[in-house]
Amino acid sequence: MSRLSDLSERIPGRVHGPGSPEYDSGRTVFAGVGEPEAVVRPRTVDEVAAAVALAAASGIPIAVRSGGHGLLPVDDGLVIDLVEFGSVEVGADGRVSVGGGARWGVVAAALAPHGLGLSSGDTRDVGVGGLALGGGIGWLVRQQGLAIDRLREVELVTASGEVLTVDAERHPEVFWALRGGNGNFGVVTRFVFEAAPAGGLVGGSVQFDASDVPSVLRAWRDVMRSGPDELNSTLMLMPAFAPGMPAGPHLGVALQGDLEHLHELLQPLLSLPSVTETSLAPVAYGDLLEDAPPGRPPLAFVGGNGFVPDLSDEALDAIGGAYARDIPTMVMLRALGGEFGRVSPDATAIAFRDAEAFLIVNGLLPADAAPEQFAAARTGSDAALALTDGVYGNFSVDRGEQVIAAMYPPATLERLRRVKAQLDPGNVFRQNHNITPAG
Ligand SMILES: Cc1cc2nc3c(=O)[nH]c(=O)nc-3n(C[C@H](O)[C@H](O)[C@H](O)COP(=O)(O)OP(=O)(O)OC[C@H]3O[C@@H](n4cnc5c(N)ncnc54)[C@H](O)[C@@H]3O)c2cc1C
Repeated sequence: MSRLSDLSERIPGRVHGPGSPEYDSGRTVFAGVGEPEAVVRPRTVDEVAAAVALAAASGIPIAVRSGGHGLLPVDDGLVIDLVEFGSVEVGADGRVSVGGGARWGVVAAALAPHGLGLSSGDTRDVGVGGLALGGGIGWLVRQQGLAIDRLREVELVTASGEVLTVDAERHPEVFWALRGGNGNFGVVTRFVFEAAPAGGLVGGSVQFDASDVPSVLRAWRDVMRSGPDELNSTLMLMPAFAPGMPAGPHLGVALQGDLEHLHELLQPLLSLPSVTETSLAPVAYGDLLEDAPPGRPPLAFVGGNGFVPDLSDEALDAIGGAYARDIPTMVMLRALGGEFGRVSPDATAIAFRDAEAFLIVNGLLPADAAPEQFAAARTGSDAALALTDGVYGNFSVDRGEQVIAAMYPPATLERLRRVKAQLDPGNVFRQNHNITPAG
């Protein structure tokens, strides 16, 4: 705390050290508990600017906390906890102004009375900050694109403590970088999104047993390939790892349309003999979102993720093979295409716009498993991941240059590094998927 005594004087009562509940809450993220020097809870943009400027002047690295659902706990420096920046205001023009520390469930609840929604993620508690800066793959991705594709303006506190309003006209390169470049460019205190109509939804789930996974994978691919943008879905292949959670494929689906049309579209899946349960009904967008599990289960998730350019039979066989191996394995396939694919690869920092689906493959191991088991789990995921492009940082627990090189094609990464050099040459914001400044 001693390095931060100036900050305690500048913002009395807002800087919290070890032993306080504010420190404990600020250092805890979904994936674990870090050991930062202190946590500051600013109430105003000026206080954020003061915290950034003072930390930067002392060479103290800064981490930002929005919803705390990140996967990278921090063990150094100052955490700026945006818990006081949770407001959401819906304008008459469908624009919604969202504090940098708000959560997506609050955004969905505020938009619902207006018949509007924003495709964000699957979970209410996830923070707007982390999810949006990393891209944001949500329920309505084929209709609305990523969360960043609906972003129109950002209020940003830079490493020098300057407050910028950033949009397509003002600081356009920074606006480009913020859409997918994660928290590398400063503290976002406010996002402005353009919401879209999200009423008239039907959806729910279809559960299958594990007797014929290849047929489920092919039928799902065909349904989503020929389906309209209004049809969105995620197919999970679940291992039997919790009581009451049956093993086998689980389809989560939503359609902006009527129930009869949904049944028609899903017919190739619903007619499979391995279907064990179907639950489809009208649903509000906010009710599609789930509450987050209380924390990460005490298991190691070993594998990775990527964007699948082509759900060929070869790719589906590799995905089915990863699921069928001896190690309990969880697979998530989310259909992309639609509006996601109409955005040019260089319009934002998320470049893999030709992907047909997003894939996560994770072997689940006890945290104390032997190194050979970890190696086997990783190798078993490799064949499926080899047919993907890139990595989606928001779902990656790995840090370092290798992940960054996978997250961005070379030209995108160089462009991000140039923006980083302008805004944060000292790399104060490095407690993240770090983009180093161009030399
Ligand atoms: C249960 C669960 C479900 C998820 N579901 C989805 C999903 O459906 N779709 C999807 O795309 N992702 C999903 N994710 C991944 C999620 O997008 C990332 O974990 C994201 O980083 C969480 O954001 P957060 O603000 O809650 O986390 P935090 O831990 O608060 O922040 C994560 C990182 O984002 C940066 N950051 C956050 N806010 C700001 C800000 N205002 N200014 C500057 N930098 C900031 C910081 O660098 C920080 O390190 C899920 C994660 C979990 C744990």
